[in-house]
Amino acid sequence: MTGNYAQPEVNIGLVGHVDHGKTTLVQALSGEWTDQHSEEMKRGISIRLGYADATFRQCPGLDEPERYTVDETCPDGSESEPLRTVSFVDAPGHETLMATMLSGAAIMDGAVLVVSASEPVPQAQTEEHLMALDIIGIDNIVVAQNKIDLVDREQAQRNYEEIQEFVEGTVAEDAPVVPISAQQEVNIDLLMQAIEEEIPTPDRDPDADPRMHVARSFDINRPGTTWDGLMGGVLGGSLVEGRLTQGDDIELRPGREVDEGGETRWEPVETDVRSLQAGGETVDEVTPGGLLGVGTGLDPSLTKGDALAGQVAGTPGTLPPTWNQFTMEVDLLERLVGLDDQDIDDISTGEPLMLTIGTATTVGSVTSAREGECEVALKRPVCAPEGAQIAINRRIGARWRLIGVGTLTE
Ligand code: GDP
Ligand code: MG
Repeated sequence: MTGNYAQPEVNIGLVGHVDHGKTTLVQALSGEWTDQHSEEMKRGISIRLGYADATFRQCPGLDEPERYTVDETCPDGSESEPLRTVSFVDAPGHETLMATMLSGAAIMDGAVLVVSASEPVPQAQTEEHLMALDIIGIDNIVVAQNKIDLVDREQAQRNYEEIQEFVEGTVAEDAPVVPISAQQEVNIDLLMQAIEEEIPTPDRDPDADPRMHVARSFDINRPGTTWDGLMGGVLGGSLVEGRLTQGDDIELRPGREVDEGGETRWEPVETDVRSLQAGGETVDEVTPGGLLGVGTGLDPSLTKGDALAGQVAGTPGTLPPTWNQFTMEVDLLERLVGLDDQDIDDISTGEPLMLTIGTATTVGSVTSAREGECEVALKRPVCAPEGAQIAINRRIGARWRLIGVGTLTE
């Protein structure tokens, strides 16, 4: 552990339309590139949530906003002081991947909405992502008006006004709009100041039972690793309360599907914490906040390829129930996001819905629809407490579209 180590304490989502500069901004703030998967490289988009940590620092001798920096050395050669470490969740902007953005939103404490100054406002996912923040109740938002290096002063001003008009009446109404160039690293200090002011570290209870939302899972072994060199499966996600210590027993729910005489059911999986990673360091204990990696004793074939993404981990016997079907109260949007002229029809019995609950995304079939309420049978069960929020998507044309929000009642 280095002297500068600090566990990330807050998760900040980067949301907004594809190509508006989210990944470039994460890079400017953290020196890391989140588009690291080969498939993402090929497709040029972030198809999975990318993670990067950044330590925000300050040079006490300087005024605001110049004092904010990610460099360890101040302009006068002195060492900067760490303020806090932040985890960035770099949500993809590609339109078919709304589910990925929604499941990422479950672990965001706040968000930076990146809007390009060189395009009309709003672009489709600018609007859709803002609506998703609204629905999930993320109201600590900073708007980054990016790519100001591509426009003249007058265009920048007009675009700024378009942004103000667009956010009016939304959850981002009072959010500061900070003009930046992520690529040229202009006004990054001003953006950091806005993030420090608008996105506080939430109060979380480190003494509660630990509860981790699993957003990813991996097999970190190289192909051909022999049995005695094999490392257990790794979970990536965020601890929303409690603490995890090396050696702790944990349970994962819903766990895994087991086949018994032609019938399948899901049963919780138990394992132990073999190693913990946070802020790029190996640590003995983690407290809530930020993104972390948990090395477990699980067979890596169970964690391979995000197989456990969407599950919940915690002390055995303390987790919320697993649901194969549930009833939810439904609150539909007035209109389809981005298609102002299209009303949203009531949910009907028999229709398929895509539901995001915590970091889990599952398809459900409506078994009974009533006014303001419906019952759904899930293809894959979810672990969630009563009262959990559910983002509801309906298939319209070729893609799933956000149509409303639900509350799990029983
Ligand atoms: P994302 O899809 O929102 O993650 O966008 P990227 O970060 O991948 O950026 C898309 C393209 O815009 C890339 O070619 C970036 O180099 C470019 N870009 C990002 N920020 C800026 C900026 O501030 N100015 C200019 N001129 N280009 C930028
Ligand atoms: Mg990107």
